[in-house]
Amino acid sequence: MTSKKSVSVFGVTGSIGASTVDILKSHTDKYCVEAITAHRNVDALAKAARDLGAKCAVIGDASRYGALCDALAGSDIEVAAGEEALIEAAERPSDIVIAAIVGAAGLKPTLAAIRRGVRVGLANKETLVCAGALMTAEVVKHGATLIPVDSEHSAIFQVLEDRKDDRIDRILLTASGGPFREWSLADMKSVTRAQALAHPNWEMGAKISIDSATMMNKGLELIEAWHLFPVPEGRIEIVVHPQSVVHSMVEYCDGSVLAQLGSPDMRTPIAYALSWPDRIKVDAPRLDFATIGGLNFQSPDLERFPALRLARQALQEGGTLPTILNGANEVAVEAFLNDRIGFLDIANTVEKMMTKIGSSALTSLEQVFETDALVRRETANYLASV
Ligand code: NAD
Ligand code: MG
Repeated sequence: MTSKKSVSVFGVTGSIGASTVDILKSHTDKYCVEAITAHRNVDALAKAARDLGAKCAVIGDASRYGALCDALAGSDIEVAAGEEALIEAAERPSDIVIAAIVGAAGLKPTLAAIRRGVRVGLANKETLVCAGALMTAEVVKHGATLIPVDSEHSAIFQVLEDRKDDRIDRILLTASGGPFREWSLADMKSVTRAQALAHPNWEMGAKISIDSATMMNKGLELIEAWHLFPVPEGRIEIVVHPQSVVHSMVEYCDGSVLAQLGSPDMRTPIAYALSWPDRIKVDAPRLDFATIGGLNFQSPDLERFPALRLARQALQEGGTLPTILNGANEVAVEAFLNDRIGFLDIANTVEKMMTKIGSSALTSLEQVFETDALVRRETANYLASV
């Protein structure tokens, strides 16, 4: 009999967090839960903690500490609050950490988990975009294992036969194209928050839904893929595939293309990150190919989706430019969600900040935190002035 693996889930109240809870609840024979965290939603955090029998629940917003204590009164679940407590939660012993906080806010806890040398199931792509090679160096240094949760990167991970660069010709990163795949730039100018949040295939948190609509999500994923897989930037291509059935592909030097397919359900890649190298049962809808009928592919349009061009530029130039791209995008998306800027202003703002804030070589994690803070200030100032 094998013993259970213990799991901590960061961002348990989000979309990825909820899908992770669903899997953990249906495999209590295999997994037990150490720590779970959320930003502000006390009720959802307390419910998840009780449902999962977690040892510890942490709320990021320190002002909600009392409310969390009340919500978990009478249980033996430990309670903590604040940014430091999130890091301490990542330091608690667990075999696996699912990193599902949204944005650069997840970087410190994710690094703390990496430094324990355990398996990290990474959904929180922004951390890899803004800390890049410094984060992967920490993974190597501490003997941690980074398993991608992002569906495209999970697909690539699943079909990557080995890590020998010379046998891989191309990585083909598929993109749904989002809700505005066929819209003109003129029409995109006036899209509303509700239209941008309505993704055709996936149900996701607000930030990644907007990123999918601008296609910045695919730009972030391009950078993520480059850090995860041993392929030069020029050999990672983006292919628009509106059905979101082929989650990504790897083309080998002999012409073989290996793809991973599945219904658009994040429980499949989350389960793989938990069970790898084994597989566990997931109650995801099965593909019915006869009903699907056809799968379509097309090239992305860089004119209408400039975020793709900006992300590739950031990857090519490197240094702190991806950190700048990510921070400016986070602030601009937030401003769009608060109806303060238009849809096309998101990529425009990112481009302005990439030009205005000079990038430099990436040398330390301190520099990542400083750059991220600077970009957020500069972007907020810029948006206040327009
Ligand atoms: P979400 O907004 O639904 O959830 C975010 C979670 O992070 C919540 O639990 C929230 O409480 C927590 N959080 C937010 N800000 C925080 C802060 N400052 N400090 C601590 N915790 C904070 O987001 P999501 O859609 O679940 O996405 C999470 C991550 O996974 C993102 O990086 C996203 O790009 C990535 N991802 C999501 C999907 C998806 O289908 N939702 C797919 C692939 C990758
Ligand atoms: Mg993805």
